[in-house]
Amino acid sequence: MGKKRKSGGRSKGSSGKSKSVQCTKCGRIVPVDKAKKYTKRVSVVEPQLARELRQQGSYIQTKVVTSHYCVSCAVHAGKVQIRQATERKTVPTRERRF
Ligand SMILES: [Zn+2]
Repeated sequence: MGKKRKSGGRSKGSSGKSKSVQCTKCGRIVPVDKAKKYTKRVSVVEPQLARELRQQGSYIQTKVVTSHYCVSCAVHAGKVQIRQATERKTVPTRERRF
């Protein structure tokens, strides 16, 4: 049977079983090499207050929030796009992914 994608939709290569993570959105258990990982900086302080504090010269710490998306949720949220059959064989570049 033919393969839909060269990598099988994963990045594990020839290594064996990989660890699992839970999807941030729906809770599905996904292999870590298949899940789409996103990190963003989140400030605890409200933006209005943070701006005022920054003007006064104070440093506001932000924390990094990491989220894992399953493929279905990543497509639904617009994080990844569905590609044509011919395009699926190639590794997506960074510009195409975002
Ligand atoms: Zn999900």
